[in-house]
Amino acid sequence: MIGPFKALRRWRLRHRPFPQAWRDHLRRHLACYDRMPEDWRDRYERMVQVFVAEKHWIPAAGMAITDEVKVVIAGAACRLVLRLDLSYLDRLTEIVVYPYVYRHKDGSKGAILGEAHRWGTVVLSWPAVLAGLANPCDGHDTAVHEFAHVLDRDAGSFNGTPFLREREDYGPWARVMVAHFERLRAGAIDPALLRSYGATNAAEFFAVATEAFFERPASLQQEMPELYDVLRRFYGGDPFTYGLCPTRW
Ligand SMILES: [Zn+2]
Repeated sequence: MIGPFKALRRWRLRHRPFPQAWRDHLRRHLACYDRMPEDWRDRYERMVQVFVAEKHWIPAAGMAITDEVKVVIAGAACRLVLRLDLSYLDRLTEIVVYPYVYRHKDGSKGAILGEAHRWGTVVLSWPAVLAGLANPCDGHDTAVHEFAHVLDRDAGSFNGTPFLREREDYGPWARVMVAHFERLRAGAIDPALLRSYGATNAAEFFAVATEAFFERPASLQQEMPELYDVLRRFYGGDPFTYGLCPTRW
């Protein structure tokens, strides 16, 4: 539930005209944008408007946070919740953007493309976001990955299960997720379809499976129909990238 002031602010934001320059940013970077039917695109643009206005955008290391940066990151986030609701992203309040791939101070974790592990904050590398979007069929997308973590965390704990639509969804979800997680851990899944990083833990598995769902939907459906089905049920339909990417990779 959102309060009346927030609801009013959102109503006003949604009724502002969507800037043409913002459409150009979305069209240039998000393969799904042109593939959406008009009514979905309209809903998507309203969500992007609210997301851009409501989040705190924090530049790191001299990053310039332009409209393009905000619109593209908002577009990447809103595509996950397009058929859910923007409220799934309400607990996310700040987005920190780096102009390069950054590293933790202790250097132990190597290069970081993005992080969503702190409550309310997502940290993204702008070049990593762009690289993920520029290859919409390679099964790797930093923004999709980090925003999947946000959905997961929104449900209270960081365990690979977001708020599902219905109580009855939790049983099949757990069974299918655990079975595929175990298969990935055992090396029984082609890492070209599901990145082996997903074997780290249940939270990473959900984020990696979400990347495959949005970037290789047809292949995922063909190879792992049960996994595809629980994700489609949660995200509310086939991704608008369905049919874009070849089923062979
Ligand atoms: Zn992750």
